[in-house]
Amino acid sequence: MELNRCSRCGAFYVGENDICSKCSSQDTLEFSTFKSYIEENGCSSIDTIATQTGISTKNVNRFIEHEGIELSGDNKESLTNSGVVLN
Ligand SMILES: [Zn+2]
Repeated sequence: MELNRCSRCGAFYVGENDICSKCSSQDTLEFSTFKSYIEENGCSSIDTIATQTGISTKNVNRFIEHEGIELSGDNKESLTNSGVVLN
């Protein structure tokens, strides 16, 4: 059995996803919101997507990485700035 840490709430849980079961329904909802937003508006910047969708920049970041979306230009800066701080 593998113990994972939830990417949303930070709780430890047993499972294969990066999200615990408590967060999964909310995460699925936000992910579909994210998808329909970028389908309609394109992938602008993380801050814009977060503001427009109400999803936290941290989760927008995760969705973008999950989808393998490439941001260009100043969007990359935004990605770095909203990244997780280590230590
Ligand atoms: Zn969670």
